[in-house]
Amino acid sequence: MSEKHEKLIDKKGIRLDGRKADELRPLKLEVGVIPNADGSAYIEHGKNKILVGVFGPREVHPKHLSRSDRMVLKCRYHMAPFSVPERKSPAPSRREVELSKVIRESLEPALFLELYPRTGIDVFVEVLQADGGTRCASITAAALALADSGIPMRDLVVACAAGKVEDTVVLDLYDAEDKLGAADVPVAYMPNLNAVTLLQMDDILKPEEFEKAVNMAMDGCKQIYTLQKEALKNKYMKIKEETKEEAEE
Ligand code: UDP
Repeated sequence: MSEKHEKLIDKKGIRLDGRKADELRPLKLEVGVIPNADGSAYIEHGKNKILVGVFGPREVHPKHLSRSDRMVLKCRYHMAPFSVPERKSPAPSRREVELSKVIRESLEPALFLELYPRTGIDVFVEVLQADGGTRCASITAAALALADSGIPMRDLVVACAAGKVEDTVVLDLYDAEDKLGAADVPVAYMPNLNAVTLLQMDDILKPEEFEKAVNMAMDGCKQIYTLQKEALKNKYMKIKEETKEEAEE
């Protein structure tokens, strides 16, 4: 093990940011944050800050991309130049193209694409601040923004990673753990349907470590799922209160 790995987790199993191995970073989720969008969501997942806007179902541009048998889901994951310590070029990188595809493929199983032929939905993911695990936080927020748009869904999709840091399997890696740790397993999951929509792995894990990481990530997803549902509920509680106040005036 190299020296730089030594301090990420102490003898008591406490990580550099004070978390236990199976503890999530603090989360904040909100919907309806972009009035111009059909659906929107904002997530703070640890130091990650991500905004998602959903537009559609609407006509597909360019037209030749539309499908006569189903709706087309388009996702664009973009990191702001100021989102990471070393300025990122605003031009789309290979990583952003890959993550756009990964996010789209994670969300598609939750949508009834066949019900909306010749239409498209655009999902714009803007990463304002990144600190590891942005693909997962983006999926969680994008699913919430889709639900906020009112499109019927089989279930919400929620994502979280687990991985290995200094021989310990840990939940929800932040940037330093992602870069210096041994492995990273992002999982996207539809908790109500008990169906996984994304499973990736960076680096190598033993079979028992892999199983532990996947189970840990799915447990993390279930915790975030509760917060997703609360965020949707909060929006409607707010509307209910506003309507009540208006009626009383
Ligand atoms: N990152 C960075 N500059 C970049 C791309 C990524 O500093 O141009 C950081 C950022 O904090 C990101 C982390 O590297 O969250 C891990 O990136 P990865 O590709 O593993 O995706 P993520 O873990 O965010 O899903």
